[in-house]
Amino acid sequence: MSISEPLSLHLPHPVAVPDPVPDLSFVIPAYNEAGNIQETLRAVAAEATRLGRTYEIIVADDGSTDGTYEAATALAPQIPLTAVRLSRNFGKEQAMCAGLSRSTGAAVVIMDADLQEPVSTLEDMLARYDEGYEVVFAVRAHRQDEGTIKRFLTRGFYKLLTMGSECPIPENARDYRVMDRKVADALLSLPERNKFMKGLFSWVGFRSCAVPIELKPRHSGHSKFGFRRLFRLALTGLTSFTDWPLRIWTVIGLGIAGLSIAYSFWIVLKTLIWGVDVPGFATITTAVFFLGGLQIMSIGVIGEYLSRVFAEVKQRPGYIVAEEFRAGEAS
Ligand code: UDP
Ligand code: MG
Repeated sequence: MSISEPLSLHLPHPVAVPDPVPDLSFVIPAYNEAGNIQETLRAVAAEATRLGRTYEIIVADDGSTDGTYEAATALAPQIPLTAVRLSRNFGKEQAMCAGLSRSTGAAVVIMDADLQEPVSTLEDMLARYDEGYEVVFAVRAHRQDEGTIKRFLTRGFYKLLTMGSECPIPENARDYRVMDRKVADALLSLPERNKFMKGLFSWVGFRSCAVPIELKPRHSGHSKFGFRRLFRLALTGLTSFTDWPLRIWTVIGLGIAGLSIAYSFWIVLKTLIWGVDVPGFATITTAVFFLGGLQIMSIGVIGEYLSRVFAEVKQRPGYIVAEEFRAGEAS
């Protein structure tokens, strides 16, 4: 090191430089939210200003076809906005990643674009963040607004998910959360393509705490997470966070093999003692169908994992950016 070099070069943080980093980066994934996005942006901006934090808002438009991107960027003169438009609908998980990768703030807030999650909770969440929690996530206080079948399936899913998972994934947690920069960077460093963010949020660790929220009805439009999409997400979650569905077949196979040996002994004994007994059609057909079904199912499970391994091996990016908008400096 030469004596003439400026000292600040060797400090971890050059203190003399004015800090351009906003306190908060809001990451908002949006898919066909033209009826909500402006309202959401205004609400978020107003709340951040009220709380006295500098901020930027990043809208990740997940291939909307209703002018969500244009509606968002129209507010750019009033709001420190970055908008990124994905080339098609890649799913909320990828949209969140696209938004995260563009965030610069000291902390990142992920929230939905439909105003279901009350912005007023932010004050509470930031208070916990200021206490030293690196992740503060919102959990639904209840699921009373959902049907019995959906509640039952969700419970079942979380049970299956936590059965083999190395890190507990909190039930009813929302993607709505405040995260320290460190956490956002850790998430961005994960190279996998099959993203199940709720799992990855807990996988990266850090000091976390939950804040209960009361979900409101959507401001406008309808939920994009129908049964099929939720089912797909659930499969991604299970296959990327557990391997018991793969391994359980060894146990089932051993169990069935054991039972068959015992049964074959019984048949031999029976034949020796009571002679040959031809009937047994029902037993044989049931066994054949049952075992056939079991085998196909186990191959299906292997297929699920294999398809995800295949997706990883192809190494395609998780999303493609079609267009990007950056409105100057943070407020
Ligand atoms: N979303 C997205 N891509 C999708 C589906 C949803 O970016 O493919 C966004 C959506 O615009 C919203 C958030 O994810 O901001 C949550 O979606 P939604 O409100 O439909 O889900 P729900 O609240 O019913 O779980
Ligand atoms: Mg919603």
